[in-house]
Amino acid sequence: GDEGLDTVVKPLPLISTSRSECRWADTSSYATNKKLQSWFQLPNGNWELGKILLTSGTESTISLPDGKVLKVKTESLVAANPDILDGVDDLMQLSYLNEPSVLYNLQYRYNRDMIYTKAGPVLVAINPFKEVPLYGNNYIEAYKNKSMESPHVYAITDTAIREMIRDEVNQSIIISGESGAGKTETAKIAMQYLAALGGGSGIEYEILKTNPILEAFGNAKTLRNDNSSRFGKLIEIHFSETGKISGAKIQTFLLEKSRVVQCMEGERSYHIFYQLCAGASPKLRDKINLKIASEYKYLRQSNCYTITGVDDAGRFHVVTEALDIVHVSKENQESVFAMLAAVLWLGNVSFSVVDNENHVEPVVDEGLTTVAKLIGCNLGELKLALSTRKMRVGNDTIVQRLTLSQAIDTRDALAKSIYSCLFDWLVEQVNKSLAVGKRRTSRSISILDIYGFESFERNSFEQFCINYANERLQQHFNRHLFKLEQEEYIQDGIDWAKVEFEDNQDCLNLFEKKPLGLLSLLDEESTFPNGTDLTFANKLKQHLNSNSCFRGERGKAFSVRHYAGEVNYDTTGFLEKNRDLLHLDSIQLLSSCSCHLPQIFASNMLTQTEKPIVGHLYKAGGADSQKLSVATKFKGQLFQLLQRLENTTPHFIRCIKPNNSPSPGTYEQGLVLQQLKCCGVLEVVRISRSGFPTRMLHQKFARRYGFLLLENVSSQDPLSVSVAILHQFNIMPEMYQVGYTKLFFRTGQIGVLEDTRNRT
Ligand code: ATP
Ligand code: MG
Repeated sequence: GDEGLDTVVKPLPLISTSRSECRWADTSSYATNKKLQSWFQLPNGNWELGKILLTSGTESTISLPDGKVLKVKTESLVAANPDILDGVDDLMQLSYLNEPSVLYNLQYRYNRDMIYTKAGPVLVAINPFKEVPLYGNNYIEAYKNKSMESPHVYAITDTAIREMIRDEVNQSIIISGESGAGKTETAKIAMQYLAALGGGSGIEYEILKTNPILEAFGNAKTLRNDNSSRFGKLIEIHFSETGKISGAKIQTFLLEKSRVVQCMEGERSYHIFYQLCAGASPKLRDKINLKIASEYKYLRQSNCYTITGVDDAGRFHVVTEALDIVHVSKENQESVFAMLAAVLWLGNVSFSVVDNENHVEPVVDEGLTTVAKLIGCNLGELKLALSTRKMRVGNDTIVQRLTLSQAIDTRDALAKSIYSCLFDWLVEQVNKSLAVGKRRTSRSISILDIYGFESFERNSFEQFCINYANERLQQHFNRHLFKLEQEEYIQDGIDWAKVEFEDNQDCLNLFEKKPLGLLSLLDEESTFPNGTDLTFANKLKQHLNSNSCFRGERGKAFSVRHYAGEVNYDTTGFLEKNRDLLHLDSIQLLSSCSCHLPQIFASNMLTQTEKPIVGHLYKAGGADSQKLSVATKFKGQLFQLLQRLENTTPHFIRCIKPNNSPSPGTYEQGLVLQQLKCCGVLEVVRISRSGFPTRMLHQKFARRYGFLLLENVSSQDPLSVSVAILHQFNIMPEMYQVGYTKLFFRTGQIGVLEDTRNRT
């Protein structure tokens, strides 16, 4: 097994630890001298394994697998690992740690359906894009009683449960990766394991049923993923003292609401709209005046109604059943569907010009009358809310009529608000149902499924927020894995060559500094009535050009040097999206409705508006209320999230998308490499390999394993007991270090002790 390998082939010491291009041990000369196998990079960027036939001067002759013989520069060759290391399940075991070896190892496993690989403490998961026989009760059992040990989401989840109980510390499982990499599926697999091990009270079924609900309302088909999550999610699962699940709490982040009114060709709006249109019973259709999807403008614009292999009507029934299970009453469910229909019908509301100043009024047709009926308001009031705006001038209130584009914006803003309020309300209902009862719970495991770093051809406000969040999460990752680790070594006086790592503090400062950071400047510009995307872009260039992570670009664009690469942002729409205005007229309309959901939405919107961050604008505009900007609210949520994560022991899963097709079996080296770099996997292996990730206080170690000693040591001090244990179990001196207060071990060393302890 792998233990054997550890002793046969010991990792070579890392020679280069500087922050230079060459991060890896410089071992190619060794390989060429010994005429070993070597990696050779083809012009297309892919690596091929070649055998070195001859080396003379700076040139080497190699033979490739297809029989070709090439003369290449010796320095371009990269050492390959011996065959015995093919497909090791932890990248830390590789003798030669370099990019092609890591890529090859992952590919070797991927081709054999071993989609999980450890990279030191991090689990790498490569999306198989097909069903792989790795899940279900037999596997869960096997990981539970440790008869199976290969890397798996189950294994990492199992570790989280054990550490939660052993250390009495809350745990978190942080899943990241780009769109379509498999984050949401991975989160579900982890939940499945938790439910199986901590189940019994029945609440675990409710927890699992939140998935189809949140996916219906928060996921959509995009060009990258047929089931793309358009929101971030943290689910905190609580356990009782006896290790049983006692409840859960879900927090969501930044739902992409623009999708409700607008989406690209070939993409879809949120699944629930199509599910409702396809699956509603005749009675329900009648009640909420529902048509088929293609009757609605909001759904028609992207010219895509179905997803290959997905039965929307069938899914609708799954969702309603799930709603039953989380105790959303049939009556409330009907209100939810009425709100969805209202959003769809709003999109069909059209306007006609009524004067020569281009002012408009909504056309009274089936769309308008149905909206009024569904939300429970007076038709006249709805018409006014969609075509006028009340303004306060001095002590008078005047009524301003809207132009066509203003009226369309108002209509779309109302539709987006209703939908996002509905989403928040549903999450609240789910949380009520899952709420941890009066019995106090001891501990929790949180699973974070959040959008990964995004860099497209055109990047807007959404990418700006998402990438900022990733920058913060990356810092959490860095701090946990590198910084804290090193500080601890130094504090405990152990021998440790300081390893440098990429610190992203500069980039975070660019975002967060006050008053001259990206977020502050965005909020400031959003409060100016005359602020535009262009004045915002100019302000950035004026104040931030000296920052090394910032670059002003032509026109309204700027770019940021993120840890994962440089991203070019187009400020078009930034101010509007950040202000996220819903005029008071619309809020008042909702609060005057006879249906209870619109009333709840209106009151939630009003309570969210205490802090006058972009207050100026509203006052300048007249009667509108004050409201937190979107970026500020998001930053607040993010800080709260990180604070919560700080108090947990984190477990990281990095999901990788092996191709963009998506298709099973295709592994594109360049694409994988880029993702490995983006999420710091390569760095982690490098650092973990040269470190001692497992540690334990002398006292604890002595207490935990002392009874395994053959001689009686009860009178001795903890350190002497510890040393005696290490000797008895033959733990090699290079595998541990003795610090002032703790023992430090290389990965895997404590396993023997734990196993013996558990067997005794
Ligand atoms: P987004 O950021 O867009 O939400 P994501 O990272 O959450 O993307 P998923 O929706 O989890 O990606 O995965 C995309 C698709 O990949 C799934 O719908 C599924 O078809 C496939 N997939 C992911 N993980 C697995 C797995 N472990 N086994 C089989 N298929 C998988
Ligand atoms: Mg997802």
